[in-house]
Amino acid sequence: MAKRQFKAESKKLLDMMIHSVYTHKEIFLRELISNASDAIDKLHYISLTDDKVGLSRSDFFIRIDVDKEKRFLTVSDNGIGMTKDDLVSNLGIIARSGSLDFKKGVDEEEPESEIDIIGRFGVGFYSAFMVSQEVSVLTRAHGSDKAYLWKSSGADGYTVKEARRDEVGTSIVLKIKEDSEEENYSEFLDSYRLQELVKKYSDYIRYPIKMDIEKSRSVETDEVDEDGEKKTEYETYIEEETINSMVPIWQRTKREVSDEECMSFYKERYYDHEDPVKVIRINAEGQVQYKAMLFIPARAPYDFYTREFKKGLQLYSNGVMIMDRCEDLLPDHFRFVRGVVDSPDLSLNISRELLQHDRQLKIIAKYLEKRVRDELKKLLEADREQYENFYNAFGRQLKYGILADYGMHKDLLEGLLLFHSAKEDKLLTLKEYKDAMPEEQENIYYASGDSVTRIKALPQAEQVLDKGYDMLCLTDEEDEFVINTLRQYEGKNFLSVNEADLGLESEEEKKELEKQAEENKELLEFVKESLDGKVSEVKISSKLKSHAVCLASSGAVSIEMEKYFDMIPGAEKPKAERVLELNADHSSFEALKKAYEGDKDKAVKYAEVLYAQALLIAGLPIEDPAAYTELVSSLLV
Ligand code: ADP
Repeated sequence: MAKRQFKAESKKLLDMMIHSVYTHKEIFLRELISNASDAIDKLHYISLTDDKVGLSRSDFFIRIDVDKEKRFLTVSDNGIGMTKDDLVSNLGIIARSGSLDFKKGVDEEEPESEIDIIGRFGVGFYSAFMVSQEVSVLTRAHGSDKAYLWKSSGADGYTVKEARRDEVGTSIVLKIKEDSEEENYSEFLDSYRLQELVKKYSDYIRYPIKMDIEKSRSVETDEVDEDGEKKTEYETYIEEETINSMVPIWQRTKREVSDEECMSFYKERYYDHEDPVKVIRINAEGQVQYKAMLFIPARAPYDFYTREFKKGLQLYSNGVMIMDRCEDLLPDHFRFVRGVVDSPDLSLNISRELLQHDRQLKIIAKYLEKRVRDELKKLLEADREQYENFYNAFGRQLKYGILADYGMHKDLLEGLLLFHSAKEDKLLTLKEYKDAMPEEQENIYYASGDSVTRIKALPQAEQVLDKGYDMLCLTDEEDEFVINTLRQYEGKNFLSVNEADLGLESEEEKKELEKQAEENKELLEFVKESLDGKVSEVKISSKLKSHAVCLASSGAVSIEMEKYFDMIPGAEKPKAERVLELNADHSSFEALKKAYEGDKDKAVKYAEVLYAQALLIAGLPIEDPAAYTELVSSLLV
């Protein structure tokens, strides 16, 4: 029979499997059992509304059979089975599509190693090739009276032919590889080892995993011993046993299952190789009864901040999966949470549309939101390092949460935010900032920019820092919008150091400023006119200490916001109202004044140079760099 070819990607993966040096080859059994369980889930779900299936919950099972002589290991199920087309499309191309896609997504220079991929994602059905010379799949699909046999001994292709199978379901038959010097494959034909592996990886599978177990019992013989007692002998016999406990891990009590076990469950199920920062276990017996096991990951999945990422928790009713990603259980600001909710109060065959309006579901969702917030708060207080790990990964999502729905969730979320402190050079909560404020400090100061270093060097920050006040350094694009949405924190207003008037001067300083402004009124007006509409005001600065100029803004749009809108294609591009601040105590101001009095053309040039300096410091581009260099050169005489 002509061989069919695997799709290119699958072939690569298969080759990888066959020549794998991966040490945990044993995971193939977990993968096959998990596929069998999924297949049963599907048929069970159909059986709820279709009598023709003819099976009830307790009829479903998975079986493991071993033929030591022939080196066959078989995993069978009476699940949904596969049609001929299914066989070709499911087993002929790579199914766990995430794994290779991910491989492409990472840095080309440093491709993900094979071991990482297997460890991180598992590779489903194909992992069988790590331990097998040949893999056969005998299957009959629900609703079909034909069965098919799929066979492959490696990357050179596979065959499919009609076959016989009395019942609907699938058997995967592995011809286990011969032992080599490095590898002992025969362990996968050993009954104790197999039982051990089922316990380790698949104990909570909700269908019985049955296996024939060799046992021994004593039997009386007709012979008598010296004391005249009948002699007993031991005989071995075979008995079918269920070797998994079938209780899902989230159904067990804290005493039965450690956090470590929950974490490995998380890593296997959600393909993460890092422990989550938090495991949340809930056993609710109030208005609605349910159990939940939630995880807060330590790292954002590679697609987390893209449209591809889908939030949601797995929803079960009494151990039977109703929905793989129930979105309604999680608010967007906590979309990073993974896990399972299991409630006997939910109806099994409820549609997605109805579920949205389900009262019970709403109650659960509300509690989960609050609980996740509280657990994050606890983490923040108890383990700052872990919290900062979490915040690095998902802080942005929390900020989006503040911005969403016109700030509706800000009370819930503001306590979870962290910002970089200029004074302490570490992340602070708003509460920590506020608690450290000197009594006379009225506002919470902040400044935005590309990096903390640049922000701290901003001329306009000097006045605030000189006073001994701290300043929050905002480096994410959305930060200013977040601050605008918050408006204030516990009665203290947020104030940008870019704000034209910070109100930090003493009475004396104010008088001095007014005097300077009065004296230089004409000059300031002249600079404004020379800049030809580029700024809305030119003023003597109260903030500048050692620097010559800075750019402030007045009005609702700040300079950082302007930069942000500029980046969004197609969006309206509102401009900040720019205020050019000049330091009257700086030598450059002296020079400007002199030029204004003696050489007006030169004064115009000085004004333009000063404005360009201010743009550069604010991180804004100079409109015409060539003209600017000409201008500077013309002054170098
Ligand atoms: P995944 O389980 O991640 O989809 P696999 O490579 O393990 O990837 O399996 C590929 C597909 O083959 C499954 O999605 C399923 O449709 C089908 N399949 C595998 N094993 C079985 C089985 N025992 N019964 C029915 N279908 C199966």
